[in-house]
Amino acid sequence: MTELTFDNLLAAIEDSNGREILNPATGELVGRAPRHTVSDLNDAVQRAVDSQQGWAALTDEERCHYLFKAADAIAAVAEPLAQLLSREQGKPLNGPNARFEVGACTAWLQATASFELKEETLVDDGEKHAVINYRPIGVVGAIGPWNWPMMITIWQVAPALRMGNTVVVKPSEYTPLSVLALVYVLNTVLPEGVLTIVSGEGDVGAALSTHEDIGKIMFTGSTATGKKIIEASADTIKRLTLELGGNDAGIVLDDVDPTAIAEDLFWGAFINTGQTCAALKRLYVPDAIYDEVCAALVAVAENMPMGVGLDEHNVLGPLQNKAQFDIVDRLVTAAKDSGARVLTGGDPDRDAPGYFYPTTLVADIDLDNPLVVEEQFGPVLPIIRYTDLDDAIAHANSLDYGLGASVWSSDRERAVNVAAGIEAGTVWINNHGGIDPRIPFGGIKGSGFGLEFGVEGLKALGVPQVISG
Ligand code: NDP
Repeated sequence: MTELTFDNLLAAIEDSNGREILNPATGELVGRAPRHTVSDLNDAVQRAVDSQQGWAALTDEERCHYLFKAADAIAAVAEPLAQLLSREQGKPLNGPNARFEVGACTAWLQATASFELKEETLVDDGEKHAVINYRPIGVVGAIGPWNWPMMITIWQVAPALRMGNTVVVKPSEYTPLSVLALVYVLNTVLPEGVLTIVSGEGDVGAALSTHEDIGKIMFTGSTATGKKIIEASADTIKRLTLELGGNDAGIVLDDVDPTAIAEDLFWGAFINTGQTCAALKRLYVPDAIYDEVCAALVAVAENMPMGVGLDEHNVLGPLQNKAQFDIVDRLVTAAKDSGARVLTGGDPDRDAPGYFYPTTLVADIDLDNPLVVEEQFGPVLPIIRYTDLDDAIAHANSLDYGLGASVWSSDRERAVNVAAGIEAGTVWINNHGGIDPRIPFGGIKGSGFGLEFGVEGLKALGVPQVISG
């Protein structure tokens, strides 16, 4: 096969008559994405149906072998993939951004192929023997967002393939090229028809969630779209994993060293320039150390360069799209108008190219301020003062979100006790967002349901079958 450089990778996936995709940092043309239709989707689902039995007939070991080969294929073109991701999504090459994301694709594929999923004996008491196994679902639809387009596609696709399903991917209309390129690379090693991609708009996603031959939808995106998918999938009783929005709280206890935790707090909130479902989006800090925590965060924030993704120096980038810029702008303006104190940022240069919003820290903000209660999904962190820890926990739990949360303390036992009272799918201690392919991850409340990663994540891509007698 010809060596995959950036140019020939882009040429392989582009459609010269397709939709223009512009770099959110510069406005420059990145490439042209094909405009697939619902009819293309129907063809893709049929191919997935046709190839599913053959794929499921392979042994688990053979499918794992394919996943390892897929990981190697991505690693071999990691740099062109990262360059494309940076141009299209806007995220910098360095920091926990484009190169990191492509590396995570390889790591997740390898991990997903490494878990042991054995038949489980439920009862074996001499009279009765009952076991549970997981069989393939059939064809899985994978609908993804624009913030971590490659990594989230792998999170959806890898366990689905491992479990003997075939997959049809629908990427976000904001970042189709990254996912088209990823799927193209995966398909250099996978059997034909096992993994297909349809790069249409919302109507294609909607058609996927009603399609009678789709057995499960893996969805990551907004809560509003998640609700539509629940409704649309009701007629065909699809299985669903919904990873929806978050508004993660972090609670700092009064025994921390503010300077020691500042950098981890910063990245918990500002990873991917804040465009991360499980990023720290509201920070509760006790009165006794409030000023020190604010000062330590400002010191870190003001040293983190933001700019065009392809500049090796930058670790923060633009917002991915104008709609997201407008959400962040509206929420920070509302906070300022309410009298909250902007410690840094909060004043974008509206004449400069790109959807850049400066790193913004907001102090002395009311509990019910829109910047606190809505998901801002950008480079902004409201820092909320508290005097009573129980009040902070109660407020952290008061919103209809429950993806992640964190507790920060030098006393692990105390932190674990606080964590137990927080309503979230994951509570991290002294970090925020530290996901790991071995550890199940998923939301509760308005943040969705279903677990991804680890053995639990594999089970979610199968149908359980009990054999008892
Ligand atoms: P959406 O939920 O609209 O989009 C996510 C995916 O769903 C896209 O692929 C989209 O396709 C697809 N889609 C849209 N409509 C339907 C439908 N009716 N049925 C099935 N699929 C559909 O998110 P946005 O990109 O508009 O972002 C909006 C907000 O969501 C953000 O402001 C942020 O708060 C949150 N968000 C959360 C993410 C997370 O990781 N949890 C990730 C991204 C956003 P298309 O793009 O073609 O419309």
